[in-house]
Amino acid sequence: MRTAGDLAAYGDGYDAEATPLARAAQHTVLARQDPARTAASFARPEATRVMVVANQKGGVGKTTSTVNVAAALAQLGQRVLVIDLDPQGNASTALSIDHHRGVPSTYDALVDGQPLADVITACPDLEGLFVVPATIDLAGAEIELVSVVAREGRLRKAIHGHPWVGTAAEVGEERFDYVLIDCPPSLGLLTLNALVAGDEMMIPIQAEYYALEGLGQLLETVDMVRAHLNPQLAVSTILVTMFDARTRLAAGVAQEVRDHFGDQVLRTAIPRSVRVSEAPSYGQTVMTYDPGSPGALSYFEAAREIAVRGVRS
Ligand code: ADP
Ligand code: MG
Repeated sequence: MRTAGDLAAYGDGYDAEATPLARAAQHTVLARQDPARTAASFARPEATRVMVVANQKGGVGKTTSTVNVAAALAQLGQRVLVIDLDPQGNASTALSIDHHRGVPSTYDALVDGQPLADVITACPDLEGLFVVPATIDLAGAEIELVSVVAREGRLRKAIHGHPWVGTAAEVGEERFDYVLIDCPPSLGLLTLNALVAGDEMMIPIQAEYYALEGLGQLLETVDMVRAHLNPQLAVSTILVTMFDARTRLAAGVAQEVRDHFGDQVLRTAIPRSVRVSEAPSYGQTVMTYDPGSPGALSYFEAAREIAVRGVRS
């Protein structure tokens, strides 16, 4: 596991002593001056990290965090695949990927067993970012999969069957560094497939009253999956979202989350910001829509933390 102190050893062109804000500003400048160098110089993990973004509560920032962390990681030179596992297809929309009925999608991989490679699209805006879109057909998958053999392991099989998933030694430079799975707001068979497929989990928690309610049920599901289906699944990352620094409530909730989860919680919290919520209507992430905005700088810093911390349990 790497710590912030190891940043200096990266030789990645950033000043390890700088504050997060200064570093993000530095990134914006570096990215503008020489995108290739910025991108190529950040260390990649040794093997693909499959990260599940889940919380059965709706509207907590799962999709927003998936697409923006993915975009930020791609800007850091990582090769990233986003799998949209929500029939609403919001992640597909935010990444400007067509997801009307009939488009090759998560459904085809999950239900019909099509190779993942056949349903992946490159994201037009960001080099190194790829997407498997979700169409509304996926809504039927919860029911269609019930009678299928090994129904909880379908997504895992699809992901691990992709030639770009694996270690540097097996796959080489083309490998995906991150696969981020955007889950629907439920604990059904779709989310279960993601939990079985993942090495680690990111749980976005909205800094609001009731934030922790329902988390017990989510963590019980994770324990069940660990005991029976996927022993290596780790809750590696908790991300506080829609944080409003002006309210005592938000600060209180964030503190409660930190007391409860300790260093699983990223130091960076994502502020509530209009730019973040506007970006999807332009088919963009906030990382490209307004790279200098506080939301983009925070997602950039969160992605950096995720990359530097490495896989942890
Ligand atoms: P989920 O995927 O968990 O249902 P979303 O990511 O779709 O949640 O977010 C729910 C709503 O909150 C969306 O309208 C989104 O634009 C908005 N939102 C998410 N994060 C922020 C933020 N940091 N600031 C302002 N609005 C946000
Ligand atoms: Mg969502």
